[in-house]
Amino acid sequence: MKGFIGVLSLAKKVLEMNVKLLRVTEEGVNLVAEAARMSDASLTQSNKEIVELITDNDYSSVLEHIYFTFDLSEVSVSLSRHLLEHRIASHTARSTRYTEEEGFSYYIPKRLEREGKEEEARIYRDAMKSANEAYTKLRELGVAREQARYVLPMALHTHYVVTMNVRSLINFFMVRLCVRASPEIRELAMRMYKICLAEYPDILSRIWCRGFTLGVCPENKARPNTCPFKKLVPEKREVKGEFEEQARGIIEKELKKILIK
Ligand SMILES: Cc1cc2nc3c(=O)[nH]c(=O)nc-3n(C[C@H](O)[C@H](O)[C@H](O)COP(=O)(O)OP(=O)(O)OC[C@H]3O[C@@H](n4cnc5c(N)ncnc54)[C@H](O)[C@@H]3O)c2cc1C
Repeated sequence: MKGFIGVLSLAKKVLEMNVKLLRVTEEGVNLVAEAARMSDASLTQSNKEIVELITDNDYSSVLEHIYFTFDLSEVSVSLSRHLLEHRIASHTARSTRYTEEEGFSYYIPKRLEREGKEEEARIYRDAMKSANEAYTKLRELGVAREQARYVLPMALHTHYVVTMNVRSLINFFMVRLCVRASPEIRELAMRMYKICLAEYPDILSRIWCRGFTLGVCPENKARPNTCPFKKLVPEKREVKGEFEEQARGIIEKELKKILIK
């Protein structure tokens, strides 16, 4: 009976990603400006202007004083692996050792929910159902959660708390708001960005993907046609190509000034 309930609830659960702001450093603009003025007493601008200068010129270490903590639910284990690659952050994930996963909810790629993809969607859902049945049976047979969990899929929804400082968040947004990022983590980045922008517009309005933030796109030819800035933001190699040879000449001259015995 327990297993039957698990399979039933699995079929019902198609849940949207949920992103909540748990904590944010208060008065972060003032804090960053105070830290910057302590370092450089000649800064006479307003706090807002100092923070804008810091963000534009990438003097970003002072932005590390502002922290955001997010609660993320209905995100996949696959997404959590990508998120964990961001090492300058603190990560806490729901434990599959201590949580019963029977009847789990899971991520479905939006492309599989489109018209004409019915067969693909069915195969996908069947795989989830089958994983749930295997998990449920193993648990009924007395297999411990920490062993049974290995049959769970990457699409399994997990719950996550992540804390990042603003410098690290800027790096996160620059790579994960790019259209080349996987759709699920790009959606997460969008949701987190909107929250951060509302808290600190003076900093975040200057940030988006690497192309927008830096003024050149390092993805070069890898940029797909879906990039909204494709005709607007130049490729790095185009820009660099214009001065590279001349700049190399300058570097060679600089190096000649250094004598190594
Ligand atoms: C489109 C796309 C494709 C990707 N493909 C792959 C893939 O195929 N395989 C894969 O494994 N990952 C892949 N990634 C993940 C990517 O390589 C990074 O691991 C991830 O974006 C985290 O970025 P980060 O290292 O800058 O972040 P963080 O780990 O938060 O680091 C922030 C910054 O700190 C510095 N830093 C951190 N640790 C070190 C260190 N040990 N040494 C020197 N500097 C350090 C770097 O400047 C770094 O940018 C992909 C990401 C994107 C957006």
